[in-house]
Amino acid sequence: MSEHTREAMEYDVVIVGAGPAGLSAAIRLKQLDADLNVVVLEKGSEVGAHILSGAVLDPCGLDALIPDWKARGAPLNVPVTDDSFYMLGEAGKLRIPNFPMPPLMNNHGNYIVSMGNVCRWMAEQAEELGVEIFPGMSCSEIVYGEDGSVKGVVAGEFGKNADGTPGAGYEPGMELLGKYVFLSEGVRGSLSKEVIEKFDLSKGKEPQKFGLGMKEIWEIDPAKHKQGSVTHTMGWPLGSNAGGGSFIYHLDNNQVYVGFVVHLNYENPHLYPYMEFQRFKHHPMVKDLLEGGKRVAYGARAISEGGYQSMPKMVAPGVALLGCSVGMVNVPRIKGNHNAMLSGKAAAEAAYAAIQGGRASDELGDYEAEVRTGAIGEDLKKVRNVKPLWSKYGLTASLTLGGLDMWTNTLGFSLLGTLGHGKSDAEATGEASKFAPIEYPKPDGKLSFDRLTNVSFAATNHEESQPAHLHLKDASVPVSVNLPKYGGPSARYCPAGVYEFVKDETGADKFVINFQNCVHCKTCDIKDPSQNIVWTVPQGGDGPNYPNM
Ligand SMILES: Cc1cc2nc3c(=O)[nH]c(=O)nc-3n(C[C@H](O)[C@H](O)[C@H](O)COP(=O)(O)OP(=O)(O)OC[C@H]3O[C@@H](n4cnc5c(N)ncnc54)[C@H](O)[C@@H]3O)c2cc1C
Repeated sequence: MSEHTREAMEYDVVIVGAGPAGLSAAIRLKQLDADLNVVVLEKGSEVGAHILSGAVLDPCGLDALIPDWKARGAPLNVPVTDDSFYMLGEAGKLRIPNFPMPPLMNNHGNYIVSMGNVCRWMAEQAEELGVEIFPGMSCSEIVYGEDGSVKGVVAGEFGKNADGTPGAGYEPGMELLGKYVFLSEGVRGSLSKEVIEKFDLSKGKEPQKFGLGMKEIWEIDPAKHKQGSVTHTMGWPLGSNAGGGSFIYHLDNNQVYVGFVVHLNYENPHLYPYMEFQRFKHHPMVKDLLEGGKRVAYGARAISEGGYQSMPKMVAPGVALLGCSVGMVNVPRIKGNHNAMLSGKAAAEAAYAAIQGGRASDELGDYEAEVRTGAIGEDLKKVRNVKPLWSKYGLTASLTLGGLDMWTNTLGFSLLGTLGHGKSDAEATGEASKFAPIEYPKPDGKLSFDRLTNVSFAATNHEESQPAHLHLKDASVPVSVNLPKYGGPSARYCPAGVYEFVKDETGADKFVINFQNCVHCKTCDIKDPSQNIVWTVPQGGDGPNYPNM
């Protein structure tokens, strides 16, 4: 027997990822049958460590899953009290009144939350029901059966040398096998991507679309703090360079979430999303709010934006994709947590019924049907044309035509049918020579910060002796293709400064991957124009350590 043989453990359901989708699935399974064996594996050092949402939470998912969440002490303590939307110019702002907005855009009844803390609370609820939760366990491989179905995952491999060979303290990890495997890895999950490709689940669907969301937590002057206030902006500084916008949510304890989303279908490869975010904070409206305060945390994560028409088939033999592994964000509402929870509940109910019927390792077709035709499908279908309108015709069209289309969809019809997205975000990237470079002001160290200083506020950590978890399919492409053709955009689109082009001792260009800085946002895997960068999981427990995100 090899020195590195893996042990196997058998469960009824194996769940990858302790986000709102995975934890909801675990809770629902044990609510339905306390005797089911359910395990949740999470790559973060603790549940919540890798969770980054705004977040304004629509509690409909929680209502369906744990109706007495209030009595159970769920950390939903800050109801939204006011909701404003501004179009920004460089120095001015124009408030868009709330009354022309379709009712679905209303935040009444929603809560400003730390989703990290909501997930920590959900994990407690799951553990009380008997779910086994293992943080610090990255799932790095899928285990397939002889019939090709998904049987489980490999988790907990530790201690490789930088060249990939087993180091002194090498642990081969375990095979966690289940009648069903749920992949709830969130946006651009690495195992989900493999499964989507292997089973051709995106066939006949529109390409998935993404944004890059960056977020800081600020502690501000109590005199300026307005607990429960929600503000969204569009326009400056992105202008016509890219789609996107900001969010400013006042939670409790004089804290404010300041976030900025850049749609990753931008063409100009000189665009520097992180610096757009930093520049945004110098708008008079934001500057007035933040001046005198301090930034206490920073993080970044991609957000799925393809919506209804981009959802791949979400089941294959033995496996189901949940939440943002499918892409369930309602883009104009910037909300996906409620759908992640509802998808977890639906997947659990389908798996429970299947297991009751003596089935295993087949397709959970009832889950897919529920997502497409139930509450999630209804939520996403109404807004399906907003993103394609924005991509094709710009911000004004998405506000006017998109607004009209959301209204007609609310009334039960659409004049536009279902518009497509066309290209992937990687394909949308244009050649550097066709666009003007963009000058960004130097961060002032008070409102705006250089990237590496900010990354230290994500408390990210990766054991340096392991192999880089960011793989290049072809090591020559960054310098031979991406630098001359696209101006080396990874040096700018990465919000953590992982990628650099430097000169070697002979003066030749060299590509450097500082994987230690990675905050697991997955933007590189999405936006690399050559689709040459593959994001894989590092060893468990590595990555950001978000406190209250
Ligand atoms: C900047 C930003 C702002 C947002 N604002 C809002 C908002 O205000 N309201 C809202 O409702 N939604 C918001 N969203 C969307 C919301 O974050 C997602 O819809 C939601 O997180 C999806 O939940 P999930 O459980 O599918 O995935 P996630 O929340 O991403 O959770 C996935 C979990 O799986 C773990 N994981 C991944 N891969 C592996 C692996 N291979 N092995 C082990 N563990 C793994 C991750 O570490 C993570 O803990 C926002 C998103 C962003 C980026």
